[in-house]
Amino acid sequence: MKLLTKPKVYLVSKPSVDWDQVAAFLADEDVPGIPDSIRAGDDESSAIIEISARLCYMSFGRGRRDIADFINNLLSSKDGSVFEHVNYGFVFTGVSRSLTHELVRHRAGFAFSQRSQRYVDESEGAFVIPPALVNENGKADEANKILEEALQSASESYNMLVEKLEDILPRDNFELRTDRRKAIRQAARSVLPNATETKIFTTANVRSWRHFIEMRGAIYADWEIRYLALEVLDLLQKEAPLLFGDFEISALPDGTRIAVPEYSKV
Ligand SMILES: Cc1cc2nc3c(=O)[nH]c(=O)nc-3n(C[C@H](O)[C@H](O)[C@H](O)COP(=O)(O)OP(=O)(O)OC[C@H]3O[C@@H](n4cnc5c(N)ncnc54)[C@H](O)[C@@H]3O)c2cc1C
Repeated sequence: MKLLTKPKVYLVSKPSVDWDQVAAFLADEDVPGIPDSIRAGDDESSAIIEISARLCYMSFGRGRRDIADFINNLLSSKDGSVFEHVNYGFVFTGVSRSLTHELVRHRAGFAFSQRSQRYVDESEGAFVIPPALVNENGKADEANKILEEALQSASESYNMLVEKLEDILPRDNFELRTDRRKAIRQAARSVLPNATETKIFTTANVRSWRHFIEMRGAIYADWEIRYLALEVLDLLQKEAPLLFGDFEISALPDGTRIAVPEYSKV
């Protein structure tokens, strides 16, 4: 039985700008060429937001020249819709089904593709130990034993159910072998616990990631999803410091971290 204690977070897709097309648009509209503010650094995500925001008033080459000031003004005035043009996609592995159940509650601006328990065999599946039971000082030994026994039993029940259903379900009822396998696994998975490991591809725009991090990076959030939200924030602060730099990260006495934004729910 494989037990996991930490998720893996892969940032797999990022925004990019076609500068030639931006230049063509500006030339066609007879407005100033790409301002230095848009070219600022190599943070394409901020550039996309500046271009989309400036388009609203056709203010290219005018107004605020400093991109940091420009972005902060959008965040503080809650001009949130322009942040929807920038998407980041992550693959999360080593997360529990209880975490993904909370993750998929985030509707606006999110896209999800999750490993299927109907198609994929769970007989060798892994489980995620809740952070409170991650045993670093020996104190959680007894609790761990209770958890591991329950997981072992669930895993055995799953395998036994698959075996029994193999005998029971009439082959003639299914056109394809895959359909029968799916029917077996979808029934057997009913005994799998919340701790069952899953993998999920999650894409969201900046407005949505900011809201997710605010909700799930808060002290009230479940520790597993809070850890994930902070990992996502670490990566996004590196990728797009102007868009996520206002989140203040602090450590709690128990060693876990929380994040609080200066600009709430833009
Ligand atoms: C600490 C914590 C405890 C929680 N406990 C529970 C619980 O016990 N039970 C439970 O069911 N859930 C619980 N939740 C989940 C919570 O209720 C939300 O479903 C989840 O956080 C997603 O938030 P959201 O709806 O704001 O996000 P999103 O779905 O991403 O939406 C973002 C924003 O878009 C707007 N929006 C989205 N959809 C609509 C719509 N249909 N109509 C109008 N406006 C919309 C809203 O302003 C919303 O805040 C909990 C969440 C947290 C962080």
